[in-house]
Amino acid sequence: MKTRVLIKEGEYRLSKAGVKDAAIDAEELYCFMKGCDKVILFLNKEQEADKETEKEYFELIEKRASRIPLQHITGKQEFMGFDFKVGPDVLIPRQETEVLVTEAAKILRDERKQAAGERHKSRGKLFGLFSSPPEQKVLDLCCGSGAIGISLAKICEDVSVTATDISEAALALARENAKANRVEIEFLKGDLFGAVAAVEKGKRIRSFDMIISNPPYIKSSLIALLQNEVKDHEPVEALDGGSDGLDFYRRIAAEAYRYLDNDGWLMLEIGYDQGESLREIIRETGRYTEPEILKDLAGRDRIVKCRKL
Ligand code: GLN
Repeated sequence: MKTRVLIKEGEYRLSKAGVKDAAIDAEELYCFMKGCDKVILFLNKEQEADKETEKEYFELIEKRASRIPLQHITGKQEFMGFDFKVGPDVLIPRQETEVLVTEAAKILRDERKQAAGERHKSRGKLFGLFSSPPEQKVLDLCCGSGAIGISLAKICEDVSVTATDISEAALALARENAKANRVEIEFLKGDLFGAVAAVEKGKRIRSFDMIISNPPYIKSSLIALLQNEVKDHEPVEALDGGSDGLDFYRRIAAEAYRYLDNDGWLMLEIGYDQGESLREIIRETGRYTEPEILKDLAGRDRIVKCRKL
């Protein structure tokens, strides 16, 4: 059968099984199997696929039709243009989280520029030219695959990232991802700020220029209603935010200011309907500036940002 027909049949089987992006996944699985990109696939669409190819392809299609996420079959997900290894122990990085990282990177860059300008002024032209501003410290809580912290370390100049997670398996994968993307990240295991507190032991509390997180934020009662790919294959501890989905935000807002420098940023991904609740939670602490809510590319509330007062 022609490659074009093979892929059409793959798409048909996937959509029959209820897979959302059946056409895309049918092509992705072919490319994964052949180790080629979409351009090569496009050029080869009229060629005959041999029996071996057919067999191997339909095996992959069967797997995906059983609602195993595409990324668990291919083992990876692209995020911010970088490759991340993923698996059942971590949340697959989502596109909407790129908005969080893009905004964070913009803030870090602007602040660096500003700091450089101030040094330039205060130290005289020549000295200012050769002394760069101090590195910016970022804490990524609930890092999972490491996508947020690793991307920031890649994109921003002179950022030192500490990333924490409660899951040893997630940290192991995040370490691999940092290595593969050639960045140095400090990984700490523990429950939110507990991970940072554990390494302080009598020392001065560590502080950061930015705390960033995409914590679990789905209401417990809604987990069962998620797509099969998510509810059956992604780690529930990366999704479940408690009865109203806000457990982690309450804990983060209550403690983040202790670990932030003055004017330091708190940046969180939120569910599309959690903006107002987050505003309340943050206001109530009295520790931060008025929170600002930003939207994702679909126009839904997705990010909250504020600074330590
Ligand atoms: N956005 C994720 C989803 O759609 C949830 C991520 C989270 O809970 N942090 O499943």
